[in-house]
Amino acid sequence: MNPDITMSSTYHAGAPIGYSRESTLTWESLEDVVGALEHGTAVSFASGMAAAAAVLEQVPLGASVVAASMLYGGVRTRIGALAANGRLHRHEVEAQDSAALAEAVRTHRPFLVWVETPSNPTLDICDLRAAADAAHEVGALLVCDSTFATPLGQRGLELGCDIVMHSATKYLSGHSDVLLGVVAARDEGLVAALRSTRHATGAVPGPVEAWLVLRGIRTLPLRWARAQANAAELARRLQEHPLVDHVSYPGLPGHPGHARASVQMQGFGAIVSFEPTGDAATAQAVCEGTRLWVHATSLGGVESSLERRRRWAEESTAVPESLIRLSVGVEDVEDLWDDLDAALLATAQA
Ligand SMILES: *Cc1c(COP(=O)(O)O)cnc(C)c1O
Repeated sequence: MNPDITMSSTYHAGAPIGYSRESTLTWESLEDVVGALEHGTAVSFASGMAAAAAVLEQVPLGASVVAASMLYGGVRTRIGALAANGRLHRHEVEAQDSAALAEAVRTHRPFLVWVETPSNPTLDICDLRAAADAAHEVGALLVCDSTFATPLGQRGLELGCDIVMHSATKYLSGHSDVLLGVVAARDEGLVAALRSTRHATGAVPGPVEAWLVLRGIRTLPLRWARAQANAAELARRLQEHPLVDHVSYPGLPGHPGHARASVQMQGFGAIVSFEPTGDAATAQAVCEGTRLWVHATSLGGVESSLERRRRWAEESTAVPESLIRLSVGVEDVEDLWDDLDAALLATAQA
């Protein structure tokens, strides 16, 4: 019923695998599953950032990268650091604006285009088919960080992406107890290059971590359905809350990416961002005032968590100071609401 956790760094000569930096049977089981979910071939890495770094490693020296301006902070910072080192040229664009993205791609003729949808933490929706058309017109690769959507919520390869990336640390594992990353692609040459980069740079996942992600994926449909239903309800209620100024959730009809998300996604995800009335200190007090919601970074676990994103120096200054990102988990929605509502009301009384 369960794959073995292969705890071997080396193998008897003549075996299909020679050394565990090349491959491990436990990763291969995980890659089979993720590949099937994404309708491509998956390659696993030590973390989401290791997966992202392996993709960026494919960019030839001095080539251009067109990147969405709103990206997971670690990836945005890494692309910026590679640009500062003269390794590549970065051109940032608001990727939810398809015309602006196409224009940037035509102007800069990049080797790759990096988008993330829904984006962290503003939940912008990028039209993947339009982005793929623009990228392919100039022979560029389209990479989508699909972490917020999961393979159940969005199948990027079918929408024209050349590479889909996930931080499996989040929804795929689902229990906040493992770091792992995965990419999926269809082009055999690209898959071979990514495997070769992993082998050469050594950012390999541990077999226990691969096993934990496999176990997590077994309950992904259940966790994902419940978390999304909770998120939709909380977003609706937050929008009506007298102490909330702005709510962002792609499932809300007023969200600028709602129509596009309805077409390219199955569901709208379980991340909600909102700004409470007041300033950054008010938002910080809300985060520190909850009892059930965990005040913590990361997302995608069964337990709900929240944080003010701008508490991190590497977060984009385009993100409002008082924006709170909710990672909605699988708890009882009334318990989640009562706790959040109480933390909001407490700021008004303070
Ligand atoms: C967490 C995250 C990453 C980085 O993944 P790690 O597993 O933490 O290295 C990349 N992209 C997104 C959207 C993320 O949420």
